[in-house]
Amino acid sequence: MRAFEAVQYFFDQAAEILELTPDMRNMLLMANREVTVQVTLERDNGELASYLGFRVQHNNSRGPMKGGLRYHHEVNLDEVRSLASLMTWKTAVVDLPYGGAKGGIGVDPRKLSLREKENLTRAFVDKIQDIVGPDSDIPAPDMGTDYRVMSWFRNQWEKYHGFNPAVITGKPVEEYGAKGREEATGRGVGILTMKLIGRLGRKAEKSRVAIQGFGNVGSHAAKFLHDAQFPIVAVSDISGTYYDPEGLNIPDMLRYILDHPTGQLRGYSHCEKLPGNALLELDDVDILIPAALGGVITAENADQVQAPIIIEAANGPIFPLADKMLHDRGTIVLPDILANAGGVTVSYFEWVQNRQHYRWSLDRVRRELEHTLVEAFESVWETSQQKDVSLRTAAFMIAIERVRRAAELSGGYS
Ligand code: NAD
Repeated sequence: MRAFEAVQYFFDQAAEILELTPDMRNMLLMANREVTVQVTLERDNGELASYLGFRVQHNNSRGPMKGGLRYHHEVNLDEVRSLASLMTWKTAVVDLPYGGAKGGIGVDPRKLSLREKENLTRAFVDKIQDIVGPDSDIPAPDMGTDYRVMSWFRNQWEKYHGFNPAVITGKPVEEYGAKGREEATGRGVGILTMKLIGRLGRKAEKSRVAIQGFGNVGSHAAKFLHDAQFPIVAVSDISGTYYDPEGLNIPDMLRYILDHPTGQLRGYSHCEKLPGNALLELDDVDILIPAALGGVITAENADQVQAPIIIEAANGPIFPLADKMLHDRGTIVLPDILANAGGVTVSYFEWVQNRQHYRWSLDRVRRELEHTLVEAFESVWETSQQKDVSLRTAAFMIAIERVRRAAELSGGYS
């Protein structure tokens, strides 16, 4: 299944209940603008290398469009389109005054030197600088990009438009970035997991957790949940699954990845080691948190997934048919558009600070993050109870209704 079809499927389920007309559905699903550009780079060895770059601006009914930049060899227009649309629903469900966008370049960043990555970023900005800006479309980091890429992006964009750090978020803290941005997505996953298990009448100490992915999102979620007394029995990364039925020593594992230049757990030996995908199918786990890739739970393996609660920290980890199989079995899924919205929420705080030329303390960022996410969680939970629908359908219903209403009120169908 193509990525955009999956988002469309979840959208349609909610649109059906909302009784949206076909023309309204079509208007809300179609992107405002899709741009494909050639990005050419002179490699360190003097050869030229050309890649395709994309920016999809999905919807701006609720405000300037917001969404990350992904550098990955599998980036293509369909994927960017689906992620741009997810951003529209994500910003709407947490009620940020934004629309949705996404972009990227189909390149393997691990094969570029730092200088090549910088030049590629600057060449990409040259091609799209006129369609992004603090009042129109604000990029951020995603897979394969980080605070350095954001810094080059801002510097190149300002050569055309002058000083305005609000053009991009996820910047280094020393350069108008927000404190707490790096931890925000994983911390948000932790905050929402606590809220959900509270609603389900479970206790942290008795809720055994498995986390797929120990990168930015997975490691910060692990730290937060470990500190909150959840036993984390398994984590995995590209090098395999690390398992301890008594609970892993998460602080030790966090130190390990910091001490190893690859940032991986490869070689970590203070627990049992299992094959990579074993994590998804463990039968002594209460909460499964996919925090690595999209499309990891499909109709082929959904039957083997045993955890009764799944928190979608990654974007699109469950395909539609698998989602239906899990729902029919009573598995509770906290959907990506809410579960991983902590990152875009703190990006919003960064943009607000940049526009006010004012700095918030880390405490304030954390407080406001919790407030925003908990409020969104409560409205999704209430809708799911009142309408007797899954948390995913409830989240989409709230988001679609907010975007539809804004488009209707402004008459701005553009
Ligand atoms: P990252 O690159 O920092 O980490 C990815 C992790 O996944 C690494 O530990 C990697 O080893 C692991 N991994 C890769 N392939 C794997 C596999 N086959 N099995 C197990 N582990 C594997 O990325 P991230 O920023 O943590 O993002 C993770 C997911 O969260 C992505 O889907 C991303 O789109 C989503 N997300 C991230 C943010 C954010 O703020 N970083 C915000 C919203 C959503």
